[in-house]
Amino acid sequence: MIRIENEPWTTMVTHARQTYPNECCGAMIGVIGDDEKIVRAALPLENAFAGAQAARYELRPEDLLAADKAARERSMDLIGIYHSHPDCDAYFSKTDLRNSCPWYSFVVLSIQKGEFHHANSWLPNFEQTEATKEELSY
Ligand SMILES: [Zn+2]
Repeated sequence: MIRIENEPWTTMVTHARQTYPNECCGAMIGVIGDDEKIVRAALPLENAFAGAQAARYELRPEDLLAADKAARERSMDLIGIYHSHPDCDAYFSKTDLRNSCPWYSFVVLSIQKGEFHHANSWLPNFEQTEATKEELSY
């Protein structure tokens, strides 16, 4: 399971509301324990998708590398990626699956009419053909 501490959770929700009606994206860093991952900090990143950002996000590989480095400098790990779904449920789309990495948790925040509605965390399989829901607490 994945647990997101208060401060990073507030950062993620605020980021998602600020970028509405576009998708936001960012990195989650923290510690990986025996039976849970704890997110200690959220790093908002720029949505680099060149087209309409209302239904799509793209992370720059160099931004992700920088997030990984920031995590290591704080003796933490890059645990996953978050992004928002403006006026959509927090499902994991085919595009999300295609652009995923099986070793990260993917938290999707549903923002309805500009306000946070619900969230899910997803774990893609190694073939990136499907993602299973991960228990999420925040
Ligand atoms: Zn998505």
